[in-house]
Amino acid sequence: MPFSELQLQLDERAARGLLRKRYAVSSPHTTQLVVDEKQYISFCSNDYLGLASHPQIIEALKHGTERYGVGAGAAHLVSGHSIAHEQLETELAAFVGKSAALLFSTGYMANLGAVQALVSREDTVFADKLNHASLNDAMQLSRATVKRYRHCDMAQLSVMLSETRKGRKLVCTDAVFSMDGDRAPLPELFALCEKHDAWLLVDDAHGFGASGIDGRGSLSHSGVESERIIYMATLGKAAGVSGAFVAAEKVVIDTLINNAKSYVYTTATPPALSVALSESLRLIAGGDALRSHLQKLIAQLREGLNGLPWQLMESDTAIQPLMVGDNQAALNLSMALRERGIWVAAIRPPTVPVGTARLRITLSAAHKVSDVECLIEALHELAREF
Ligand code: PMP
Repeated sequence: MPFSELQLQLDERAARGLLRKRYAVSSPHTTQLVVDEKQYISFCSNDYLGLASHPQIIEALKHGTERYGVGAGAAHLVSGHSIAHEQLETELAAFVGKSAALLFSTGYMANLGAVQALVSREDTVFADKLNHASLNDAMQLSRATVKRYRHCDMAQLSVMLSETRKGRKLVCTDAVFSMDGDRAPLPELFALCEKHDAWLLVDDAHGFGASGIDGRGSLSHSGVESERIIYMATLGKAAGVSGAFVAAEKVVIDTLINNAKSYVYTTATPPALSVALSESLRLIAGGDALRSHLQKLIAQLREGLNGLPWQLMESDTAIQPLMVGDNQAALNLSMALRERGIWVAAIRPPTVPVGTARLRITLSAAHKVSDVECLIEALHELAREF
């Protein structure tokens, strides 16, 4: 009985061009993907440095499983916390210039845990309207009062902060916005947090490894550093593996260890993943050549896509969304590229605001100049046809 209603809802989604669908990939993760025995050049992964199938990381993972086995066996606070986790936490904290770090199983869980542990009913969270869904859910879970400011609108945030007199204040922002590719104004955000004595939680899922000196992330990129900044980054994007961490003052990390439910009540990640991630961190730190190749590809793409009927959004990061607008048109464009052997995902509401469906093109240091040329040519061809 009740399931027919679910089918109706799915049918409605499909009619609006919004049904989500998965494709099973049979190749390792690189810029070439195999789906249904057909090969595609992929422009939609977050593997910004091309580390997801790096032989040194694969070797480290094998080494880690030989030494620690496969599963952690328990939560961190029971007996699942390994010296491999601990070593990686120490390395991550030092790398991003914080006094301590804490590993989480995913970025989603890191955001849920950090916000829920740091603020509650009497407090206020301020958030950019284009923040990632995990930060939005985290605010709801914390039960704090939520105030969302227009995308990067510092004037509106300033008013909201001055109007708030009671409780803790926590400003949350993506450092690089996941569906837009632009950067949050971190120096201005930090100045407002200083003025109003607020904490600043920076989600650097898309900056860590790809931005900043030695890939140290967006704080390094923007030259902002302070004890009041709580830094979160994911380890399944530029780092090429899986997981996430929060880095902050030791008292903040101790608070998370005690209060963050998504840390306390979950099984620790396999220690071998931490061994792999320590290797990934070494590759990130020595990855200037990868980052400069990535910058060249970004410039090549932006120049090559001039003159299309669809505009690339303003972005200097590896996320280069092409604005289409209509859901079905974005989907059609994505499918037409697929017929030409190019995989780019169409992103539609509710992930992005209504009327702003887009192709989320992402570049990786593993792409060749000829891959990007291929995408540019295909889009120009399709512009003539559409
Ligand atoms: N924050 C941002 C800005 C993200 O883009 C993502 C992943 N898309 C996450 C958090 C969640 O990270 P994870 O995939 O590790 O759960």
